[in-house]
Amino acid sequence: MTSHTKRNEDFGEWFRNVLVEAGILDYRYPIKGCGVWLPYGFQIRRMLTNLLRDLHDKFGHEEVRFPIMVTEPNLRKEASHIKDFENEVFWVTHGGRKPLQIRYALRPTSETAMYPMFKLWVRSHADLPIKMYQIGSVFRYETKTTRPIIRVREVTTFKEAHTCHATLEEAEKQISEAIQIYKQFFDACGVPYLISRRPDWDKFPGSLYSVAFDVLMPDGRTMQSGTIHNLGKNFSTVFDIKYEASDGEHENVYQTCYGISERGIGAELSVHGDDNGIVLIPNLAPTQVIVIPIPDKKIMPLILDTVERVVKNLTDSGFRVKIDKREELTPGSKFFFWELRGIPIRIEIGPRDVKKNQAIVVRRDTFEKKACTLAHLPQVVHQTVDEMSANMRMKAWGWMKSRVFRVDSLEKARTILAKKGGVVEAFWCGTEECGHNLEQINAKLLGVPIDVGETLEGKCASCGKEASSLVRLAIAY
Ligand SMILES: [Zn+2]
Repeated sequence: MTSHTKRNEDFGEWFRNVLVEAGILDYRYPIKGCGVWLPYGFQIRRMLTNLLRDLHDKFGHEEVRFPIMVTEPNLRKEASHIKDFENEVFWVTHGGRKPLQIRYALRPTSETAMYPMFKLWVRSHADLPIKMYQIGSVFRYETKTTRPIIRVREVTTFKEAHTCHATLEEAEKQISEAIQIYKQFFDACGVPYLISRRPDWDKFPGSLYSVAFDVLMPDGRTMQSGTIHNLGKNFSTVFDIKYEASDGEHENVYQTCYGISERGIGAELSVHGDDNGIVLIPNLAPTQVIVIPIPDKKIMPLILDTVERVVKNLTDSGFRVKIDKREELTPGSKFFFWELRGIPIRIEIGPRDVKKNQAIVVRRDTFEKKACTLAHLPQVVHQTVDEMSANMRMKAWGWMKSRVFRVDSLEKARTILAKKGGVVEAFWCGTEECGHNLEQINAKLLGVPIDVGETLEGKCASCGKEASSLVRLAIAY
């Protein structure tokens, strides 16, 4: 990177620089909290949105597209929902010069846009379950300092799924399915995560409970990167979504909803990046292999001919491949250019390689180099891609796990978080009073782990009484 900011020394600065330098996002748009996805950033974004689409389709969801505007009366229907969003809503107050009789809100999330329509669509048991999702923009008037991708006013890549079910058991099953979908999403990204049930005072407004995926960022803070909510009958009661049961009674449906935003992309870029730029996990890289000819005036046609053959061979083998033929750039500056953009595999072909009928293969995560005969190139690239993906996953999970600390006192928790960041796990009796007391160490209570297999016993780190569970604390974005 030209800015020379070390990722581990100033992550915020590194992130802002890498977005611009790698051609991902331009944040100079004249509205705070809004940015422009640049062509390369858009390609990366598309890889991730396609992955989300594939996963939701595979689990039986259908993609839809609802309007961006919601009427004020609908937005206000669920009392706790609007109470939480009130300060963040952008209002549409005029049509041309005329004040609108009923104001519209730019959706901060889509429950209140979708559920009046669900009321029309759900008639009988046969209409259930409904499992729909959309990927689009939602708007929040963030008053805190905005950060590209991480804290924005227009969330441009909000995948939200909404479901309706006949019974609470089916809604609970849907929550487990949503957890599976999100696990598969982050696993494909090679991004490690912690899954916790948020405390009641931090659940989604209008829900029974919320489960969140948190990603530990390089600066030691956690970023909420996916949330799953069991809405019970709260919304279906106020929006009057009912089905006729077999006994002829009209019953309100049970609902769930779950969302992932471009924070998922932010996590992917941040977790794997290094001082040279971003590093893309091969299955999600828009270009997986960049082929760079090393010029030699005497045999240039032969070099270019070999390069073309290599590109064809690798493309036929199923890789996404590009050549960098730019004459005005030196090979060194091309290496730098593509490293910054995180292309997993670089292939160099120069005069010596042409003579030996070989190419040099370099992987982005370790910069390990090896020569390979042209005949074996697809096989070697396959193998390198597999090794690189496995290594990126292992490294990222290892890094996160080494920063999750189990502590038995508040003092230890405070010291660790202040010094190293990361996540601490302590015992908690489950009371709101002790929960808030734990948060006094300047941390956020992420909630009770639901991804810890073992059953544990211990004493509450706040009151010393018998604890009901572990709880996670971290400094959060
Ligand atoms: Zn307690």
